[in-house]
Amino acid sequence: MNQLSTPRIVSMIAALTRHRDVSLLETSLLKTVADLFAPDWAAIFHIGDDDVPVFSTSLREGIVSQTDFPESFSELIGTEGVTSFPIMSHALKVLGYLLVHRQPQLSEEERTLMTELFRVYDNYLSVLRDSQVDRLTGLLNRTTFDDQLDRALGLIRASYQDHAGERSKRKVGEGTGSFFMGEIDIDHFKSVNDRFGHLHGDEVLIILARILQSTFRKSDLIYRFGGEEFVVIVYVDDRRDAELTFERLRISIENHVFPQVGKVTVSIGITEIRDTSFPVELLGHADQALYYAKTHGRNRVAFYEALLANGEIGAYQRSAKA
Ligand code: GH3
Ligand code: MG
Ligand code: MG
Repeated sequence: MNQLSTPRIVSMIAALTRHRDVSLLETSLLKTVADLFAPDWAAIFHIGDDDVPVFSTSLREGIVSQTDFPESFSELIGTEGVTSFPIMSHALKVLGYLLVHRQPQLSEEERTLMTELFRVYDNYLSVLRDSQVDRLTGLLNRTTFDDQLDRALGLIRASYQDHAGERSKRKVGEGTGSFFMGEIDIDHFKSVNDRFGHLHGDEVLIILARILQSTFRKSDLIYRFGGEEFVVIVYVDDRRDAELTFERLRISIENHVFPQVGKVTVSIGITEIRDTSFPVELLGHADQALYYAKTHGRNRVAFYEALLANGEIGAYQRSAKA
């Protein structure tokens, strides 16, 4: 390996920490690895469901790819020429691995340099993750929702088009289903605070976030949208399935006994995400359905498209201000 000058190292660190988006950060990391070590390939795997590392991003001959890697993690890890670096959280939990393949294998000195660079990467990643997450509940925050929705809609559009062209939807879902957005708002939460105090109110929000996480799949996106409002984007088979999923959530919350507070209910407004959807319209649809649920007894799930079809609400009008 060539001796690296200080300005070159500083510029690499600058390049490594250029992006605010976790997935782009991975691309920067792989490019830095390619620049430093000229490997045959480098790939990042994340620890997925069942603690099995799942392929995320690779770089080979200067090309970044997020489609499937030919071999599984367990096959690669035993391959000659592969060096593995764990990606750690601040709590020293292994979040994934960076694999670098080169013949001859990385030298001791190169491994040390990579480990040091990884410390910079890990620190930046944790700062980035912190800024995306709501401190109270650990869910993604509103800023992240705003940042991600446009990109998610782009992916969703691409996946609908892929499907029409008989390609798979693997990045954002599998099979022939659709995406739905649900807006969840706690019923009479002000009175929970008034009767039991803000701290018990906070505890309800934390427990409710756990119920959300256990109800939906890891691949679904759950945000704390505002004070006592949450937004979830799910991928399910069809409208019926979406309604059942959110109805199951409503029932588990209704049946949960919260410490001190006892019973809490939520109202939920759902809308379908189409390839033609845009953010303001989506939120408008979910809001309208949620408002319907609130004004029709609360503790219920309302579906924008169904209400519209039944003539129970008018079509969403984008306001002049929006
Ligand atoms: P509705 O059924 O119509 O939704 O009634 P509501 O009382 O839930 O609605 P409203 O929007 O009037 O009140 C929301 C309350 O949520 C107001 C505020 O006290 C509470 N809240 C917002 N953020 C937090 C928080 O972080 N912690 C706690 N404890 N309460 C919060
Ligand atoms: Mg509210
Ligand atoms: Mg409320």
